[in-house]
Amino acid sequence: MEAIYNFTEKDLKDKLTSNGFPGYTGRQVFEWVYKKRVSNFDSMSNLSKKLKEFLRKSFSITKLKLIKKEKSTDKTEKYLFELEDGMAIEAVLIPEKERSTLCVSTQVGCKFKCLFCVSGQDGFKRNLTASEIIGQYFAVADLKAPLKVTNIVFMGIGEPLDNFDNTIKSINILMNSAGINFSKRRISISTCGLVPEIKELAKLKLGIKLSVSLHSAENDIRDKLMPINKKYPIEELMLATREFSKVSKDLVTFECVLIEGINTSVDDARKLAKLLNRVNGKANLIPYNGSSPEIKAPTQEQLDIFTQELKDRSAFFTLRKSRGQDINAACGQLKVKYLLDQ
Ligand code: SAH
Repeated sequence: MEAIYNFTEKDLKDKLTSNGFPGYTGRQVFEWVYKKRVSNFDSMSNLSKKLKEFLRKSFSITKLKLIKKEKSTDKTEKYLFELEDGMAIEAVLIPEKERSTLCVSTQVGCKFKCLFCVSGQDGFKRNLTASEIIGQYFAVADLKAPLKVTNIVFMGIGEPLDNFDNTIKSINILMNSAGINFSKRRISISTCGLVPEIKELAKLKLGIKLSVSLHSAENDIRDKLMPINKKYPIEELMLATREFSKVSKDLVTFECVLIEGINTSVDDARKLAKLLNRVNGKANLIPYNGSSPEIKAPTQEQLDIFTQELKDRSAFFTLRKSRGQDINAACGQLKVKYLLDQ
């Protein structure tokens, strides 16, 4: 049996036609599964008995199992889900006035070991399937209804472009107008900077947004924060993001987690401004949110000096309020806490 949420409309059509069913049944089943969201095949009333029998034997309609939910005083919610093999992943919902953003995970663990991020601390376990990615959306959408999830960011645990095929598959499913019909402009992928995959993503012309975790405009510092920089240094990364923004006709966002004494000096701000102006990008500044004894967020005064420097150089940036600090809402933190509590 295969999880049906792993199937795009085309996958369903291929599977059904190769088993002797007419091509149009692919669309019919897709609509039942993703638009009408039925949870069993018997309710697919316009399908033949034979087709329903085939679906029952071939597919399962699975749901993620919620094992823990935490709500921050600022309304950020964090969900911990158990997968069929017992592993756990998390998703975060950030409700704001005009939108509600869901942050989904794409892997169990992470290979990339960025200094400030707990997701890779226990190493990499496995890729999520498209069904497990879509499952996070369905689970949170169901729990929060009638509140609508308006934006999805692939910014949870793992590196989405390291799980390229399943990430793209889940995005194709989300965007299909015969199903969930999620707006492409409200989907965003965040990457640590995998250059070949950014170029590959550009070629697909999906119309989605791209965020690149930059953290520093200087290779020496970025090397220390993100080991991946040794493989794909900043110059190469900028060429790839330029390719992406040319195709998407949209600014790329550069995320910078600010850590006192590492990337928050006036010189760091100047170099960042220069890079942003050169590549026509915008920065999303995020004060470090975590409990490492070695690193900490800058003070308000340091933040003010840093942002003033960017303003003076007309660099485009936003300063993200750290949300959900009291519930460990940065990548991987709830899972770590859950495992420690066991
Ligand atoms: N692998 C992808 C997506 C996961 S991390 C990537 O690297 O972009 C996504 C973002 O989470 C990072 O850019 C960073 O902005 C944020 N993040 C991770 N750990 C954090 C922490 N301890 N404090 C603040 N932000 C953090």
